[in-house]
Amino acid sequence: MSALDVSVQAQVLNLLLDLQQRLSLTYLFVAHDLSVVKHISDRVAVMYVGQIVELATSAAVFAHPRHPYTAALLRSAPVPDPNATSGDVALAGEVANPADPPRGCYFHPRCPFTTQVCRTERPALREIAAGHLVRCHRAEELTLTGARADADDRSERR
Ligand code: SF4
Repeated sequence: MSALDVSVQAQVLNLLLDLQQRLSLTYLFVAHDLSVVKHISDRVAVMYVGQIVELATSAAVFAHPRHPYTAALLRSAPVPDPNATSGDVALAGEVANPADPPRGCYFHPRCPFTTQVCRTERPALREIAAGHLVRCHRAEELTLTGARADADDRSERR
């Protein structure tokens, strides 16, 4: 899909949505383009180094992400506004090697909220609200910024 011209992409997406409605289809749609994901998805699973780190409705993931990696992805997505500043949170470090992932949370070498438990214990994928699953030791205590509709307010509070 990413190799297609944007207008052709839109035509293909609209065709998929039309077919979905008419034939009651379910799609498993794998993509990196968050605007496309938001447009087409009812539920979203965010993956990091081969693991699902967050799974929820599209609305919940985009407006109220509960995993730091999801929040970083949302902040880094470009917005169609020539006056908007670029994302301010380029993640430090490299993506972990799936064949030799870090101990504890796979995301801990890059996470701004890492604590000792993150370095030693692998977090389970837990349901922290109805239908909202997160793989993070600190999911309940972190307040993370969602998609950049509020581009000027990207602060995160612990
Ligand atoms: S478990 Fe710790 S390192 Fe992993 S995402 Fe949560 S806060 Fe960050």
